[in-house]
Amino acid sequence: MTVPVEMTPFEAVTHYFDQACDRLGVKDEVRALICTPDREVRVEIPVRMDDGRLEVFIGYRIQHNGSRGPYKGGIRYHSEANDEEVRALAALMTWKTALVSIPFGGAKGGVTCDPRTMSSRELQALTRRFTRSISNIIGVNRDIPAPDVGTNSQTMAWMMSAYAEEHGYTPGVVTGKPLELGGSPGREQATGRGVSLIVKEAARDFGIPMEETVTAIQGFGNVGSWTAHFLSQGGCKVIAVSDVNGGVRNGGGLDLDRLQTHLENTGTVYGFPGGDAITNEELLGLECDFLVPAALGGAIHSGNASKIKARVVVEAANNPVTPSAENILNERGIPCLPDLLVNAGGVTVSYFEWAQNIQRFPWDLDQVNESLEQIMVRAYRDVSAKAKEEEIRYRDAAFAIAVGRVVRALELQGLP
Ligand code: NAD
Repeated sequence: MTVPVEMTPFEAVTHYFDQACDRLGVKDEVRALICTPDREVRVEIPVRMDDGRLEVFIGYRIQHNGSRGPYKGGIRYHSEANDEEVRALAALMTWKTALVSIPFGGAKGGVTCDPRTMSSRELQALTRRFTRSISNIIGVNRDIPAPDVGTNSQTMAWMMSAYAEEHGYTPGVVTGKPLELGGSPGREQATGRGVSLIVKEAARDFGIPMEETVTAIQGFGNVGSWTAHFLSQGGCKVIAVSDVNGGVRNGGGLDLDRLQTHLENTGTVYGFPGGDAITNEELLGLECDFLVPAALGGAIHSGNASKIKARVVVEAANNPVTPSAENILNERGIPCLPDLLVNAGGVTVSYFEWAQNIQRFPWDLDQVNESLEQIMVRAYRDVSAKAKEEEIRYRDAAFAIAVGRVVRALELQGLP
């Protein structure tokens, strides 16, 4: 068997966009306008390291489309972050915010660095310098960054502070901040909570009782760990989790409290004594109802898609299933719930945070969680209804809904 050449992440998102345009009959000139990002910025970030060396990092902020509101998207610190990946993630944000119908466009940022090997002082210096370099293109009504892989609420606090030096105290310029600086209750858990809401809806849709569902989760960072927590709270059995070092499996269900303690003590889920050690590849091949890739892009590709034994794949990470892998899954009758739907809980609560910041009026946790549930459930039902009605994949339905909204917003404002 010849292994198909995988598309790059930006080619993949463009491919889905094109398919949606074909389905909707979008004119070529409108396609061309939307496909290319509105703006791409690449900056040099010199940082004096703790040992006295000057290291020069490269950072990106790519604003894909702003027809429906200010650009919105996370900032990734990762050794493999590059412009191609950031461009793909920026486009995905455009479709995600449109799908859940929140008033934002799409953007993404990234810095090529390994935050795990950097001190807190170095990370703060990097973040402040990066923020100053992009401060003229971000802003509460322009572009609002948030955390992603390798960044967190502390990174956002530094960004907000560096932005304030030039523009005055503006908490709404970033989301995912600490609560003390205008962060929203529930933001930290939001993506994982959203994933669990989608799994709950899907379980109902596929006729699998929640208390009988068995789940395996790849990646145990912010998204993976909160997904595990909420799924298990909802009665679902989490039989395996993993991180970059490897995973652990227990067919009877993992004890997540003990696992969390092990993670806090050792920095990894690997080696947890409450189960058997497994590799990431073994985790992906486990028999389960829901397989949740919640680490990085490209985890399920044409080389391993035939080994997946889950009933449904739930894309908690961005781009975890490549287009050729999805074709293989599809032929084998395994549906794939797409990233733009599944992990939209994070940007949705970011929207609530931004709304609280600009109104100077905080919400309580119940209000956040209830509003999140309403939006996620509505989005799932819209996608599921369209997929069934038109007999298309969930991803194609999600893209068709999202692309339709962006095209309409663009056309209403008048084309050049
Ligand atoms: P994180 O940095 O908190 O966690 C990432 C996890 O993946 C860690 O457990 C890490 O060890 C693991 N990992 C890294 N490389 C791996 C590998 N090769 N194999 C297996 N595991 C590996 O990141 P996060 O915020 O949880 O984000 C995870 C994914 O979800 C990313 O794709 C991100 O873009 C997406 N996402 C995150 C949010 C959010 O709010 N944090 C929102 C939407 C989408």
